[in-house]
Amino acid sequence: MGVKCRENLGGKIIYRCDTCNTYLTHRGYLVSTRFASANGPFWLFKKVVNIHYDNAMSRNMVTGRHIVRYIYCKGCSAKLGWFYEMAFLNGQEYKEGCKILEVALIREETDDMPETPFGKHILSSV
Ligand SMILES: [Zn+2]
Repeated sequence: MGVKCRENLGGKIIYRCDTCNTYLTHRGYLVSTRFASANGPFWLFKKVVNIHYDNAMSRNMVTGRHIVRYIYCKGCSAKLGWFYEMAFLNGQEYKEGCKILEVALIREETDDMPETPFGKHILSSV
């Protein structure tokens, strides 16, 4: 195991892996919140960091055939959603290169809480 090197894109409203707290993306990269599946809502982001990609595969969706890859959190390996590598129908190209995250698996955080030397966890546990 080497030193864990994680990317951070900054942002005022950020999204972390709900399981292991790994930084994933921020509100500025949010493209659409109009996705849903049997598991609940999914959000589409232009950029997500600290993830692993699975092999590319073809999936037939409501919006046509797509080449996608499942994406996993680098910190805890939880499956977070998928990456749209290619879309075949006109009008769906905006999704290419975007990642979709299952909302139930991510946590929204804002930086408007006062900074303390101990962090938020200590504050809530005293
Ligand atoms: Zn994680």
